[in-house]
Amino acid sequence: MKLFITLLSIIVSLNCFGWGQTGHRVVGQIAQNHLSSKAQKAIQEIMGRESLAYASTWMDEIKSDDHYDHTHVWHWVTIPDGGNYVEADKNPDGDAVEAINRMVEILKDESAENEKKVEALRFLVHLVGDIHQPLHVGNGTDKGGNDVKVKWFGSNSNLHRVWDSGMLDSRDWSYSELVTQLDCSCEDSILAYQSTLNPADWAAEAMSYRSQVYETGDVERMGYQYTYQNWDLLELQLFKAGIRLAGLLNSIYE
Ligand SMILES: [Zn+2]
Repeated sequence: MKLFITLLSIIVSLNCFGWGQTGHRVVGQIAQNHLSSKAQKAIQEIMGRESLAYASTWMDEIKSDDHYDHTHVWHWVTIPDGGNYVEADKNPDGDAVEAINRMVEILKDESAENEKKVEALRFLVHLVGDIHQPLHVGNGTDKGGNDVKVKWFGSNSNLHRVWDSGMLDSRDWSYSELVTQLDCSCEDSILAYQSTLNPADWAAEAMSYRSQVYETGDVERMGYQYTYQNWDLLELQLFKAGIRLAGLLNSIYE
């Protein structure tokens, strides 16, 4: 029984990684590229040599450390179809929206210890990425697509994992290659994407892609076709996440 529970917890934790390492690093690096000089300096004082891309995956690494078990539920938020964050039932242990807001407050708090700020930044970089993965804003019926079992290029997978890493891994770009491709100095788009820095709005936007995300076609034969239909959205969400993370950090260190 104990082995079964251990295996189950490994499977569950594998299923909620959020973007996988490549996606999170793309978000961190794009944010880094768009920091104001004030934010850059303040973050360097907190983090030393650790870049935002490097910090972005820490929240998945600590899943192996009991000390951080309470943070597992922060990776996502549940908002049923047709609902919104304010009205949705809240997980008393936290969710991605409230955790992002809480990390921003820690970073703004001049009396907070540096060690606390290092963690807050690592959480924040990761969570702004997660909340832009459309299935990290779950509808409350299928564990963010984890219960939608699919065959991905012939192997057992599920819809959540396809979005976390399946599509990214199938195209096989490195995070820095993707950043080179996605990032731009396109001021109009950047201003538009940064027009709201409220994570509840980002969650509402992620929900607006739900019908597209669930259009799987034959779940026994997913791969090229699904990637073709969703790659633009995936790139857009990674880019917006990076740009908005930069906007949030710039607003903290104005
Ligand atoms: Zn995550």
